[in-house]
Amino acid sequence: MNAVKEPSFRESVDLMFNRAVALMDLPPGLEEKIRVCNATYTVRFGVRLRGQIHTFTGYRSVHSEHMEPVKGGIRYAMGVNQDEVEALAALMTYKCALVEAPFGGSKGGLRIDPRDWEEHELEMITRRFSYELIKRDLINPAQNVPAPDMGTGEREMAWMADQYKRMNTTDINYRACVTGKPINAGGIQGRVEATGRGVQYALQEFFRHPEDIAAAGMSGSLDGKRVVVQGLGNVGYHAAKFLQDEDGCLITGIIERDGALYSETGLDVEAVRDWMQKHDGIKDYPDANHSAEGAVVLEADCDILIPAAMEGVINMQNAARIKAPLIIEAANGPVTAGADDILREKGTVIIPDMYANAGGVTVSYFEWVKNLSHIRFGRMGRRQEEARHQLIVDELQRLDHHLGDAWVMSPGFKQKYLRGAGELELVRSGLDDTMRIAYQAMREVWHGRQDVTDLRTAAYLVSIAKVAASYRAMGL
Ligand code: NAD
Repeated sequence: MNAVKEPSFRESVDLMFNRAVALMDLPPGLEEKIRVCNATYTVRFGVRLRGQIHTFTGYRSVHSEHMEPVKGGIRYAMGVNQDEVEALAALMTYKCALVEAPFGGSKGGLRIDPRDWEEHELEMITRRFSYELIKRDLINPAQNVPAPDMGTGEREMAWMADQYKRMNTTDINYRACVTGKPINAGGIQGRVEATGRGVQYALQEFFRHPEDIAAAGMSGSLDGKRVVVQGLGNVGYHAAKFLQDEDGCLITGIIERDGALYSETGLDVEAVRDWMQKHDGIKDYPDANHSAEGAVVLEADCDILIPAAMEGVINMQNAARIKAPLIIEAANGPVTAGADDILREKGTVIIPDMYANAGGVTVSYFEWVKNLSHIRFGRMGRRQEEARHQLIVDELQRLDHHLGDAWVMSPGFKQKYLRGAGELELVRSGLDDTMRIAYQAMREVWHGRQDVTDLRTAAYLVSIAKVAASYRAMGL
């Protein structure tokens, strides 16, 4: 097995795509049109910092423009390269199609370790990088809309939006040029938590289907399931926190850059996160065993494994030793194509990245719509909804009064029922609906076709069919 070469991230995406299209009947040429990345722009720019000029390399790749704008995050990491952004851009195309977000796929990256720079330096670098992308319409509300990814967050998105505004002073829709912005700069409630929240909703939906739970050799509900998470960043932290607080999962392992924490009785996610922020790592966290060799904990005995850090961490070297019967790919590309073969053979169920982490782009879509409509969700209807609920509560209260002890309203019912939905409730409801519908589309193919034995192939089949339909409608 070791003689076979480990496929790169980009090769992995291509191999997985090829497995799926082999089961489809696409017209000649269309398959190739969908697979290839339309364009990748590379920029090298200098910024004067600390008394000298530093040169940075950045990328923005556009995979498919069957729908515009194209969409995808911008990553700040030392490992960023053309192959990586192209693989990520391709995944964005399939992800958007799967969850019916009306975008083509794109992705960007800057080769930088953000921890090496002060905040004001990062702002200068980000503004300079944005300037290069804006000049070429690679940041633009109608053409290309970035979002946060590894190493970037609300702060960077606010700088980018502001840079776009400075360069396009009359564009009334300037705020829609990036998503994942802070609330006071045109962001939307629930965007920061969205990808982790989507991972939670994906697992909740999985556990609604006994046949699927059985396929992973499991039983019961999420309650009490032992979970190992890799990467306690934006995605991993929110996923782990919600699963712990709301679904009764035990977070038995947390893997970070500086090793892993392990506890059979469960780790307190919030406490670990606090420790990590104060001490710049998880090492020396009390109340848990620490292993310096973090990746080994990927192989720990658990029910659900959530890789939420980076690509390629489950590969041909360790795949055979992975014990979790269910893997949910919160990160993009954490399982290589070689590992995917090994795990499929073993019967491991993998909830694939293009679905599992689509919560981010889904809520980004809501943010973009909010920016274009210039009104927050819920603003028009909330009080009206509350007034109508009040009518029912008044009637129930009359009944309550009339029937005496024979019937009483449940405690808390009035407060809960009266509250109209605000933006956060609406965003969560839209995300939950999206995750349920997309899962059902995948599982119909998974269980409905003899030649499809895994969720990843099913996800590719659903999304490629949608992209192909868009191209056909364009006359291609
Ligand atoms: P982040 O930078 O907030 O967090 C990444 C975390 O992983 C950090 O805590 C980092 O210390 C840790 N980490 C890095 N290398 C590691 C290693 N080798 N071992 C263990 N831990 C390591 O990034 P994020 O936004 O949470 O993104 C994580 C993954 O999720 C990426 O693959 C990204 O593409 C994907 N994703 C993110 C979003 C989003 O909305 N942020 C959306 C979709 C997909």
